Amino acid sequence: MPYDAIVIGAGVNGLAAAVHLAAKGWKVIVVERGAIAGGAVKTGEITRPGFRHDLYAMNLSLFAGSPFFAAHKDRLLAHGLNFLTAEHCFATAFPDGSWLGVDRNLDATATRIGAFDPKDAERWRAMVAAFGQDAPHIFALLAAPMPSSAAARAVFNAWRSRGSAWVADTARLLVASPREWLDENFAGEKLKAMMAIWGSASTVTGSTMLGSAPPFHPPTGRKNSSPKTWMP
Ligand SMILES: Cc1cc2nc3c(=O)[nH]c(=O)nc-3n(C[C@H](O)[C@H](O)[C@H](O)COP(=O)(O)OP(=O)(O)OC[C@H]3O[C@@H](n4cnc5c(N)ncnc54)[C@H](O)[C@@H]3O)c2cc1C
Repeated sequence: MPYDAIVIGAGVNGLAAAVHLAAKGWKVIVVERGAIAGGAVKTGEITRPGFRHDLYAMNLSLFAGSPFFAAHKDRLLAHGLNFLTAEHCFATAFPDGSWLGVDRNLDATATRIGAFDPKDAERWRAMVAAFGQDAPHIFALLAAPMPSSAAARAVFNAWRSRGSAWVADTARLLVASPREWLDENFAGEKLKAMMAIWGSASTVTGSTMLGSAPPFHPPTGRKNSSPKTWMP
């Protein structure tokens, strides 16, 4: 057998595994049944000519903040990797013709949310304000294998810098369903629907809250056609 490892599937995980092994000197082959590598991280011109859409995954912040990216950043960038940051990050269109979306501009987003419910806009602002302090702890935990000493260390560091109440609240957030969390924090049904779609992809925390990374898909795009079918 001329290879040390055969990786089945050229999705992001298969490719990352292959790179890890190759970096350790293994001879690796990746086999892919699809015509194009990338798995669920692909771009395609599926609506109008010249408009390129993420076909599946669109919010690549976790990848951009991953140890894998840190380790292989230079080579990936040299091979053409490029992250686009959208001003108008994502939106949900509703059957009554209204819509709600998140911008990188906090005032723009809060104004939109406030038009449906002013208290929700205040709550949104408070969450965004707290996020800078919360993020390092949440992402340290998300990046740690479970269970592991790295996870225990992340919880300990969070407890030391943010206190017991924060740790208890965050633990509740991590085990809560998106519906529970949204009902507890917001009143507006449209805001909850918009956020629940992200919760279904388990990305209700993180950059999604801030609207920091995912590209905006115009309403003609497949993903934005309705709140039921659009899935980040
Ligand atoms: C609609 C959607 C939206 C998403 N949004 C986000 C997001 O915004 N942010 C985010 O971080 N993640 C998102 N994800 C998740 C992310 O896309 C996946 O976690 C990631 O693609 C998983 O990578 P993978 O390599 O494990 O599998 P996949 O990406 O599924 O790749 C598997 C590959 O293996 C190939 N394959 C399978 N079986 C065989 C076989 N027998 N022989 C040869 N080849 C085979 C497939 O053709 C495919 O190319 C989303 C996923 C979906 C579906």
